[in-house]
Amino acid sequence: MSQYDVAIVGSGPGGYVAAIRAAQLNLRTAIIERDRLGGVCLNWGCIPTKALLKSAQLFDEISHAKTFGIKVDRAEADFPAIIRRSRQVADLNSKGVDFLMRKNKIDVIQGNATFQSPSDLLITQKDGQTQTISARHIIIATGGRPRSIPGIEIDEQTIISSKTAMTLAERPESLIIIGAGAIGVEFAYFYSTLGTKVSIVEMLDHLLPLEDEEISVILERNFKRKKINIFTSSRVLKIEKIDSGVNVHIQKGEKEEVLTAEKALIAVGVQGNVEGLNLEKAGIVHERGFIKVDEWYQTNVPGVYAIGDIIGPPLLAHVASHEGIVCVEKIAGLDPHPVDYQSIPACTYCQPQVASIGLTEKEAKEKGYEIKTGKFPYTASGKARAIGERDGLVKLIFDAKYGELLGAHIIGAEATELIAELGLAKTMEATPAELFQTIHAHPTLSEMVMEAAADAEKQAIHI
Ligand code: NAD
Repeated sequence: MSQYDVAIVGSGPGGYVAAIRAAQLNLRTAIIERDRLGGVCLNWGCIPTKALLKSAQLFDEISHAKTFGIKVDRAEADFPAIIRRSRQVADLNSKGVDFLMRKNKIDVIQGNATFQSPSDLLITQKDGQTQTISARHIIIATGGRPRSIPGIEIDEQTIISSKTAMTLAERPESLIIIGAGAIGVEFAYFYSTLGTKVSIVEMLDHLLPLEDEEISVILERNFKRKKINIFTSSRVLKIEKIDSGVNVHIQKGEKEEVLTAEKALIAVGVQGNVEGLNLEKAGIVHERGFIKVDEWYQTNVPGVYAIGDIIGPPLLAHVASHEGIVCVEKIAGLDPHPVDYQSIPACTYCQPQVASIGLTEKEAKEKGYEIKTGKFPYTASGKARAIGERDGLVKLIFDAKYGELLGAHIIGAEATELIAELGLAKTMEATPAELFQTIHAHPTLSEMVMEAAADAEKQAIHI
């Protein structure tokens, strides 16, 4: 039986990053994967959807080329080619992980792992062959999968999950998206830009309801201009399959309505992949689909750890990776910093992009902070005007007393890149003055961060 220092079940951005860090620390490491290396992020999530969104954005830009003085006869979106490119990008990324595993001398074991004891895993390959490995430390990084609404079955034909939405053979003429989290709004942008008639139904009162309300409202305004039908504060009562697709019955307040489309995409969140691991045999406790861990990611069973989506929100690739690094460093006897869950950037890659870190204005007030906010609109930025991206806002929230950056919220072009500076500012506990006294190059979109910080001290120059 093979013996390891660390065995990791699942090779998503949690598992494969943990494996590399373990190998760097000279731990004999194995990673077990039943599917392709890279998990949902590389194969069915972050990366292939960003490829799709790039095609949509390009199509959008070409369609508006006239604004930039360029004549284009007629742009045409070749949907199967867009999907093909996205799959190729996913393939390349998965191969990249394979390379990294070999480079770091990590044993990749293909198959499905089940616990035989807290230190032994039985691995069954697709052809039925089995092997057992033993490890001093086992990290569960099996991720999650789309969940559905109770009583509604995702058949992947007319009622689909994000996985099918990114591989459809043909673009549907109409689509109802249920759930306006990151997946819902990204697909709303993608499909509506390519010409699909999109409706989006959200139970809470805004699109991206966890974002700062002011940001969600700007997104809603923009999506309405794109002719996306928005139904917020709306509950799905049932979905009926009909010959032409689906009837989605929704309720808003007292009012009931029936929406009809070719397909419905369910994007109401994720559940953890706890099944099939035989967790009970090792005595590992899980609750409502997620495994419980302590601050160093150890489960209730010593020597068994869990990281990433399987331990619950925030369900983000970059969180999983950092949890993996901290978990392995602790196993190796180092003294890592625990993950700071108040400083996790959240990014949504529709256009306009949305990115944030820390508290919303409402949350900051609820926590009793006296706040000062600084804002800068994209319309006032020379660079934003030059590149034709005038819709957007940078909003920073500081503690009025000590100047600590409590939250940063951006909607607009390149928001997902601009947020990184504010993550560093938060880590370094930067004050507004430190942000606006840092010289930002002109002309850049990042000047808006500087100006928003200056605005918090009533010193903004360009508004
Ligand atoms: P989510 O939890 O982010 O959003 C689901 C939305 O559906 C919520 O706004 C919720 O209020 C709504 N909802 C739930 N039940 C509903 C119902 N019955 N009717 C109408 N609305 C309902 O989940 P998601 O968008 O499916 O994404 C899954 C996970 O993947 C999330 O944790 C997300 O953060 C992550 N993800 C991140 C990115 C990114 O960072 N860009 C992209 C995709 C997914």
